[in-house]
Amino acid sequence: MSLQVPSSLTPSKVSSFKECAYAFRLAVIEHVPQPVNSHTLKGTLAHRCLDRLYFDNPPENRTLDVARDIFNDVWLEAQNSGELDYLEECEKGCIDLNELAKDTTFLIEQDFIAENPQSVTALGTEIQLEARVGDMTLRGIIDRLDLNPDGTITVTDYKTGRIPGVMQEHDRLSGVYFYALLCEQVLHVVPDTVQLVYLRDATRIIAKPSKQSMTALLNRAGAIWKAVRNACEREDFRPKPSKLCGFCNFKLLCPTQHTD
Ligand code: SF4
Repeated sequence: MSLQVPSSLTPSKVSSFKECAYAFRLAVIEHVPQPVNSHTLKGTLAHRCLDRLYFDNPPENRTLDVARDIFNDVWLEAQNSGELDYLEECEKGCIDLNELAKDTTFLIEQDFIAENPQSVTALGTEIQLEARVGDMTLRGIIDRLDLNPDGTITVTDYKTGRIPGVMQEHDRLSGVYFYALLCEQVLHVVPDTVQLVYLRDATRIIAKPSKQSMTALLNRAGAIWKAVRNACEREDFRPKPSKLCGFCNFKLLCPTQHTD
């Protein structure tokens, strides 16, 4: 008996497997449902607003007032569709939806400090790319792909959390490099630049991928894919306790979290 190998590799699956193989197994292979918390909901809503800001509006229309109107529409739709009800009952009891709305608006407004939306030529937003490389399928959704004045392209990824420490920043950059790799594989263009927009800190972290970094990333993705396949074959996904356990949705199912 072996476990079903996932159909594809994405940046979030790569970081999940590296962080804790046991949590990866529960989330990706066994599809154990995870609660939607206020943090993930804020991220979803902020991404949706920025998607509309950049995709539905020409550069000159991207103003703070337009962004706030977009947020009001998105919030109303979330209320009407019951999306806000997905918050866990316990969290819903102590969460102030007005505060959640205020903080999400703040995140969107911060984008206007991190960058100038009116100077961005967005080729597309929420772009789904998929590439078959050897025996693995790479997949990802690019938040925004920009055309630069010199004809090159930039991959943009929004982050709603705070800027992390150096090691985690390296991981996050690996995620956005993964999108650059997808551009290379699918569009046959290596982006000139990749950028992480940390909305809360109104800060952009920018890097330039090279042909060598793309090759190194492809090799790393291949190694992770091989490790995932082996783990599935052996049904061997070991827990890796770390400070991330504090934020883990699978604590109740994890052998390392029970002492009896
Ligand atoms: S609690 Fe920690 S060790 Fe257990 S699954 Fe979650 S991250 Fe892994």
